[in-house]
Amino acid sequence: MGFRRHLIFFLSCLLIFALFANYVSFAYGKSNGTQHVAITPINHDLYHTSGALLEEIESLVHRHPDKLSIEKISSKNKGYEAQMTVVTYCRNRKESDDRGKLRILLTFGQHARELITTELALRLLSILSEEEFLPNVDRSTLNRTLDRLVIKVVPVENLNGRTLVEDGDLCERRNGRGVDLNRNWSVDWGKKEKDYDPYEEHPGTAPFSEPETQIMRKLSLSFEPHIWVNVHSGMEALFMPYDHKNTTPDGIPSQMMKSILEELNHIHFKDHCLIGSGGGSVGYLAHGTATDYMYDVARVPMAFTFEIYGDLKASSKDCFKMFNPVDITSFNRVLNDWSAAFLQMFSIGVQQMDGLQSKAIASSFDNWVSIDDYLNGYLMQRKSRYGKKMEVLDLGMQEIRTYFRLFLLSSVLLLFMFCSRISKSTRPIVSAMSI
Ligand SMILES: [Zn+2]
Repeated sequence: MGFRRHLIFFLSCLLIFALFANYVSFAYGKSNGTQHVAITPINHDLYHTSGALLEEIESLVHRHPDKLSIEKISSKNKGYEAQMTVVTYCRNRKESDDRGKLRILLTFGQHARELITTELALRLLSILSEEEFLPNVDRSTLNRTLDRLVIKVVPVENLNGRTLVEDGDLCERRNGRGVDLNRNWSVDWGKKEKDYDPYEEHPGTAPFSEPETQIMRKLSLSFEPHIWVNVHSGMEALFMPYDHKNTTPDGIPSQMMKSILEELNHIHFKDHCLIGSGGGSVGYLAHGTATDYMYDVARVPMAFTFEIYGDLKASSKDCFKMFNPVDITSFNRVLNDWSAAFLQMFSIGVQQMDGLQSKAIASSFDNWVSIDDYLNGYLMQRKSRYGKKMEVLDLGMQEIRTYFRLFLLSSVLLLFMFCSRISKSTRPIVSAMSI
């Protein structure tokens, strides 16, 4: 009988607390759900439309035929067509096929909503063509570096997705038919984590199902870059392989990548960028990414993903603000800091090339590429998949719920102990009731 009484007390207490907890949870959920979020529109005083940006780049190329050339590539799959502009920079264009030069492939705007990245492409090309200048950069030193390079720039990788953003879908990150171009590559393609978001991360029907990815793959295989950078926004980070596992590769190229990232972070970002493998640094894994392919399959010895800006305080629904600076000061700061970081990376790349040659690790530069027998490629931006803010909020809510449950459990236990004592001290009354 005593046990039954205790059990009834316990269950009653539990019921009361459960009802209370449900009420709290319901009330919280309701207020959260009806929260009004102001949506920031694209600031057209700062940002080009994709059409205007590509026109600007085209006229830049026409003004500097000695340094720049442009090609437009298109590809089609099942009625879906993608077009891509590729700009090649070589300080003396006649030498652009010189295999002794360091080859660098940079892509911007793979995710549609990350408009700031395409502005960085334009800024960088303007600096390379000497139409714009950065403070504290000695031009003759820079030119000595640039003499050693060929750079290919894809200013807007995902033009179709970008058009959707410009038409008002500010949170769109995928291509023109709903595929995440940074999940459509072959390394570990299609693997889904527990937190996989089928909307944001749709990897396509097969690796390279998307024309945009096909164009980029061909470009990487024909150009054989030594350095690859996939430029994104949503946070501030310098990532290296891998994205699909939370480790960095072993070996010399990996050490070189790490030291480049550390140097850039220290000199240009006061060490505040997140650094390391994409998969290991952001707390989730991404499968089928471009950087993992570049490292693993295309054997690009230096494969990076740079995340150049993120507003962690912005609402996850306010995508323009979350992924792009909205005022002119931060807009210019981001473009200048990251342009300077790119120039620095070029210079370190050339130094490393010289270092490797002098150490006779390779008898020619192309042999250096072939030493990368164990490479595997990299990251990105998983943060931006639902938007950082959302993840942070969700995590916060989870923690609150967990603590609340623990609190409830201990309260119930305490109450149970308390009730047991009362029931003992008031035995005569309880006994009477039981009859
Ligand atoms: Zn992105």
